[in-house]
Amino acid sequence: MSSQPLQPSQASQAPTLALLAKDGRRTLPLSVMGDQEFVPLDDLAAAFQLTVREESLDAMTVSYKGRTIVLQPAQALASVSGRLISLPAPLSRSGRRWLVPVEFISRALATIYDVKLELRKPSRLLLIGDIRVPRIVVRYDALGASGRLTIDAMPRATSTVTQDTDRLIVKFDADALDVPSPLMPLQGAQSLAQTARLLDPTTLAITLGPRFAGFKASTQPIESTLRLVIDVAAQPDAAPPPSPQPPPALPTLGQAVSLMRTIVIDPGHGGEDEGAIGGGGAKEKDVTLAVARRAKAAIEARLGLRVLLTREDDRRVALDERTALANNNKADLFVSLHAAASLRPAAAGATIFYAAFEKDAAPPPVPDRVPTFGGGVRDIELVPWELAQTRHLDQSTTFAALLEAQLHDRIPLVRQPIASAPLRVLESANMPAVLVELGYLTNDAQAARLAGDAFATAFVQALSEAIVKLRDAQTAGGTR
Ligand SMILES: [Zn+2]
Repeated sequence: MSSQPLQPSQASQAPTLALLAKDGRRTLPLSVMGDQEFVPLDDLAAAFQLTVREESLDAMTVSYKGRTIVLQPAQALASVSGRLISLPAPLSRSGRRWLVPVEFISRALATIYDVKLELRKPSRLLLIGDIRVPRIVVRYDALGASGRLTIDAMPRATSTVTQDTDRLIVKFDADALDVPSPLMPLQGAQSLAQTARLLDPTTLAITLGPRFAGFKASTQPIESTLRLVIDVAAQPDAAPPPSPQPPPALPTLGQAVSLMRTIVIDPGHGGEDEGAIGGGGAKEKDVTLAVARRAKAAIEARLGLRVLLTREDDRRVALDERTALANNNKADLFVSLHAAASLRPAAAGATIFYAAFEKDAAPPPVPDRVPTFGGGVRDIELVPWELAQTRHLDQSTTFAALLEAQLHDRIPLVRQPIASAPLRVLESANMPAVLVELGYLTNDAQAARLAGDAFATAFVQALSEAIVKLRDAQTAGGTR
């Protein structure tokens, strides 16, 4: 939904953040600087009964019922009970007012507030408390002379459909609806469904075309989405439209279509850095490159995603350059490939690592309630480099688990196949990131297998499946 362009009329209006609670709705003004949206701290304080104090030149506190957030104006960080939370930008001053990045609400304020706060950044909505505001995506497909409306509500919300002369009225059991603009792509004049609009906060009205004869509605749960399918029929004597559009081969969740576009695969080592070397002479740098190339070809062909490799051939690439390639290309997933060596020749099996942060460094500032953005939040240049991964640890561990499940019956795994380690190549990745040790080159039998086709095929199949699962989970859950 974040991909919806603003209407020209909206673009010139000052943006606002809509606060929705059970007992009403209010708006706060937003200031946009660069790509970043800020909200005035005093407005937040008034809306949430917060106490804001300038403790010194370089520290401000924001308190609520004895719990305190410390902000340092020059830094894109907040601290809550000693735990660091990264923000996409530092505090900013506008005249006499302090502005905080809008993510402050979900990342910092939500951790001290006693009521659930859910920021939906693409829709500029802040949900306060247990309020049901499903995201709605409406799609119409012409199917020969008839047609099909698909209305997805996520999280699930039931609805009733009634006909009111030349309109279908869809009333949701919810507190409000989160709708894109426009609600439905423009349809042709011959279409059975023509326009969709919001009649009131929980009701859609769909205008019907002149050939409309009747409808049949059914619902179908898809993960956390409830899909309402309304089949609409045309009058029997009506001529079919001149060139009926075939329905899309792959039904999608409309605007909520996967946010996953680019994957970076990082074949470990290269050039004079050969990595581990097996007894039979197999080199880690060759194994990782062969598997990475295979993965690129398969994922591009099967999943239609863009796959970039951090090296295409046998060359040395610095660790930071590998992650920088992923960050600069706004990759949605980073997978680093390695093979291990052990003094124990019997050691065998693959391990999946996600980032760990050393205890004396900044702890992973993952708030209890990880903000759920509809996507498109890409503020990498403002995130402290070595903290970038902290925001994605949740998704990184999710992906590690998905990959483990897929690898399980395909290749040998170590006894505890998911582990965390302070790996620099992962820490600076500003997207979900894992590092896979494919197996042990020091185990002769395994070294021979790792270098073979069957292993690469099995691994690449598992990786593709895990990517599909992550994409599905992100599409359904809207979490990033
Ligand atoms: Zn390695």
